[in-house]
Amino acid sequence: MRNYKIAAIPADGIGTEVISAGVSVLECLQKKVGDVTFQIEHFDWGSDYYKKNGVMMPENGLEKLKSFDAIYFGAVGAPDVPDHITLWGLRLPICQGFDQYANVRPTKIMAGIQSPLRNAGPGDLDWVIVRENSEGEYSGHGGRAHRGLPEEVGTEVAIFTRAGVTRIMRYAFKLAQSRPRKLLTVVTKSNAQRHGMVMWDEIAAEVATEFPDVSWDKMLVDAMTVRMTLHPKSLDTIVATNLHADILSDLAGALAGSLGVAPTANIDPERRFPSMFEPIHGSAFDITGKGIANPVASFWTAAQMLDHLGEHDASALLMSAVEEVCATGVKTPDVGGRATTREVTDAVIAAIMKR
Ligand code: ATP
Ligand code: MG
Repeated sequence: MRNYKIAAIPADGIGTEVISAGVSVLECLQKKVGDVTFQIEHFDWGSDYYKKNGVMMPENGLEKLKSFDAIYFGAVGAPDVPDHITLWGLRLPICQGFDQYANVRPTKIMAGIQSPLRNAGPGDLDWVIVRENSEGEYSGHGGRAHRGLPEEVGTEVAIFTRAGVTRIMRYAFKLAQSRPRKLLTVVTKSNAQRHGMVMWDEIAAEVATEFPDVSWDKMLVDAMTVRMTLHPKSLDTIVATNLHADILSDLAGALAGSLGVAPTANIDPERRFPSMFEPIHGSAFDITGKGIANPVASFWTAAQMLDHLGEHDASALLMSAVEEVCATGVKTPDVGGRATTREVTDAVIAAIMKR
């Protein structure tokens, strides 16, 4: 019997609804697979916790999470709590504290989900974007001088380290190697930014020599948006900096049809700490409590979590059930259907059980 300890942190808004849906699907998988158990512990951290305690999570929060095999995360953000508190109080401390330096975002057009790209259907867009998650443009370096004066200067410094770039590059090549097409595109802006970005290109070429069976190419980020839109089939695995991949993965999510289906994994590839799995979407208070949040992103990220735990059969079973349900038209309103979160969840559970 294989036993996994999973920390569930639903947090805010529809996060609670989609994680509860995901937990019932995990329980169903446990029944179906038989020799695996998921020991799921819930943590009530988030904006409500903040309103009662003045912090998003307890001071020893990371200490509490350390012994888990994985973290299953909902969404943070509330209309009456500032973004810097919600984001910097819970999600980012976990990412940084556990050195989850690889942010992995699979995107594909699923049967039954309409892409805004004309004539594009399943098979035409099947990507994984690897986002550097620990440094770069979001490292917080910079400042402002002469504040408010006509000569004011603001700087935002991107910090790239050889160690940081090498480890994300290696992760991306390895991931590309594990996918059928063995194809990697390295994205930079090295024509206009002549230091850190040129270092990215150089390190990509160095790491590439360790993976002779992976074909790879380089793209400038501006040209990349065009290629993603006009030639989606020419891409497979993509690696980019923190900022570039942030933007490209929003574009990817839109091209695949909806934010509600896009998952993400924050991975510590060295497995020193638990990795964290979450939908890309936020807390979406406009639909909170209505029972119509799309749970597909939270199911898909649960499949990412199962893969990370080594439960590849359970992961494949879950994904094929999700794809079948989308294809048969049991969908929430954001993707053009009329089903509720509960109805989609029940349909996925039924699809798993009948397999
Ligand atoms: P954030 O501040 O983190 O961006 P948000 O509350 O603005 O969070 P987003 O995730 O950005 O929400 O989503 C934007 C809109 O897309 C939401 O307001 C909602 O209408 C829709 N949306 C997002 N996720 C889902 C989902 N899972 N199901 C249905 N609709 C969704
Ligand atoms: Mg938003």
